Amino acid sequence: MPLEQSEAIVLRSFTVGDQDKIVVFFAKNKGIIKGIAKGARKFGSRFGSSLELMSVVKIFYYEKEGKDLVTVSNCDLLESFFEMQKDLKTSFTLSYFSELIEEFSPTRAKNDILYRLLLSILHTVKKGGDVNFLTRYFEVWLLKISGVLPDFKKCKKCGKPFTNRGWLSSKKDGVFCNQCAPQKKEEIMPELGAFVQWTKKNPPSQKEPLPFSPQQLEAIKKTLNSLIIFHLEKKPKTLRYL
Ligand SMILES: [Zn+2]
Repeated sequence: MPLEQSEAIVLRSFTVGDQDKIVVFFAKNKGIIKGIAKGARKFGSRFGSSLELMSVVKIFYYEKEGKDLVTVSNCDLLESFFEMQKDLKTSFTLSYFSELIEEFSPTRAKNDILYRLLLSILHTVKKGGDVNFLTRYFEVWLLKISGVLPDFKKCKKCGKPFTNRGWLSSKKDGVFCNQCAPQKKEEIMPELGAFVQWTKKNPPSQKEPLPFSPQQLEAIKKTLNSLIIFHLEKKPKTLRYL
């Protein structure tokens, strides 16, 4: 068995037995990889603190044919985002990012854009960026990368650009204007389109003041969460804490 290696971000880990841990990694060149870290729970283990949520690591592992779980032989910590998780809201937010990436990414599918997005957002949070704002930024990009972000600029039916509010289609694949909407259940606020445009043009690092108010972000959150729940066919477990 050849020893493989990859840069990766730790999405989740849980204990198995007395001494081992199962770790879910988001690997830069491999996508989601699940591995067993033997002896990771032992005091003074060679894994140290490298398996914490969102740690950026270099993993060395063996793959056995036909086995879903790789064996992690070593894990070097490249960058830690542990300190900022003392803040409960930040900690829950990072767990939410982790859950969404795992849910939206097929196993072993490389997703370089999503990897770089996550890393860039982690750095911005570390520098004191607004967690609410960055969560919306992450959600927009995740939906866009996954190919399920509707066009919020113009009506799905008549093609007219929105000047005011619109209505989300029942399959959540587009937005209708006030005249064309067959049903008016989920209202789309005009700031959502503006926010999506903003995220396309700007990196997550931003200076105060934020270009969108907390009230606008709250309206944006409602629609984005509705899209996420629709496409996952369930509510993310970590969403209730946010
Ligand atoms: Zn229309």
